[in-house]
Amino acid sequence: MSLAELQELERKAVVPSYARFPVQFVRGEGTRLWDAEGNEYLDFLCGISVTSLGHCHPRVVEAVREQVGRLVHVGNLYYTEPAMRLSERLADSSLGGKAYLCNSGAEANEAAIKLARKARPRGEIVSLLGAFHGRTYGALSATPQESKQAPFAPLVPGFRAVPPEPAAIRAAVGERTAAVILEPIQGETGVHALGEELLVAARSACDEHGAMLVFDEVQCGMGRTGTLWAYEQTGVKPDAITAAKALGGGLPIGALVTSPTYGDVLQPGDHGSTFAGGPVVARAALAALELTEAPALLETVRERGAQLADGLGALPQVLAVRGRGLMLACEVEVSASDAVRRALLEERLVLNATGPSTIRLLPPLTVSAGEVDEALARLERVLAASPAVRGR
Ligand code: PLP
Repeated sequence: MSLAELQELERKAVVPSYARFPVQFVRGEGTRLWDAEGNEYLDFLCGISVTSLGHCHPRVVEAVREQVGRLVHVGNLYYTEPAMRLSERLADSSLGGKAYLCNSGAEANEAAIKLARKARPRGEIVSLLGAFHGRTYGALSATPQESKQAPFAPLVPGFRAVPPEPAAIRAAVGERTAAVILEPIQGETGVHALGEELLVAARSACDEHGAMLVFDEVQCGMGRTGTLWAYEQTGVKPDAITAAKALGGGLPIGALVTSPTYGDVLQPGDHGSTFAGGPVVARAALAALELTEAPALLETVRERGAQLADGLGALPQVLAVRGRGLMLACEVEVSASDAVRRALLEERLVLNATGPSTIRLLPPLTVSAGEVDEALARLERVLAASPAVRGR
């Protein structure tokens, strides 16, 4: 179908909850995407940190193909090997406890919130200003952004948002706190890494009051920052991690991983989902995890990340660069949304704006040095042709 026909269908039949760019993608391989007219794009967004091994990684494709012809679904009343093996791999690679598999990032956070409330009945969930934890009601209640929350009030009771400052966390956490949930690097609001002092304050406040510390690694986990999990680059170990996005090598899966202390809080009947941990997505995730854990790949993420950050910093219209590994954002003196649109339509470079002056870059972890240079050259042309916004 042509783009015009798709747009007509969208107007007629699709709930307009997304603002789409006028591009129809039909194929992907590695860092490249192709539209219906055959134009080739460099994908430096990965469907927002999802296709982190590049599009259609052969090992993920092979695992899915093999599994899809063997067994697709039986549900969680029975055993399947991929779900058990994936849970073990996730726990062994991080907190050493147990894993609960689900279907998305928001669901992983819902599971964390429910687990924390069961561990401390009626306890409060503390989240940070600037956070994004998802759009389901529990996750949304922990996402203190007026524009996202206000139309859907009333939210879930028992949530409190505090500024991302050590003193604010210490003041908020007490005997009634069930959990503190935070992103080690806040992604949706512009790639802001939380400081070590804040993470240490959150850890010690949770320890002092017996609350659970949850790191939402939905975006910053799975190798994105140059270690498998972002917390590994901090001096703080959480009690639980939530993961999704890149976990399934492009397929939809999420997970809550706990420390041994919290592994048995949820008992049969407490929580679940029909599709959770299905064999096809679990096989994809096992393949993705094995590829992502490879030290050589994580080393490349750090190298390519440094190359990209340095290159961005050298562009005249870039005012600042933030982030870690291949999770980067830059502040620009032009309109970020205009620049992102022009990058897509004129330079065939896929990026994303997280704010009026913020461009986010999340290329595949497998990106080559040449592709980084090519993306920088394309972005440079876009920024050079964009009018500066006064006052920046
Ligand atoms: N947590 C973080 C840090 C995210 O970035 C996102 C999505 O952007 C979510 C949770 C929600 O994940 P999902 O869209 O899979 O529900």
